[in-house]
Amino acid sequence: MHIETLTPADPAWQAQALCAQTGADFFFPEPGSSVREAKRICGMCEMRSACLEYALANDERFGVWGGLSEKERQNLRRVTP
Ligand code: SF4
Repeated sequence: MHIETLTPADPAWQAQALCAQTGADFFFPEPGSSVREAKRICGMCEMRSACLEYALANDERFGVWGGLSEKERQNLRRVTP
């Protein structure tokens, strides 16, 4: 979850999002950069499921959401239309 991209309709889980405390930099790395740190933080985040659901429902294409990279979410969309 990335505060600046959330709509006001989705307030429930963002207050507990770990990335709101760490900043968005890890979650939107430069192309080709590692997403390991973002994933590590997501792994400790209690909002991970809600975050991933939100990203899939809103077709978020960029960055790490719910512990999954752009490519991993893309793959998930292919198997679960
Ligand atoms: S799962 Fe990751 S991207 Fe989502 S709210 Fe938690 S820390 Fe942020």
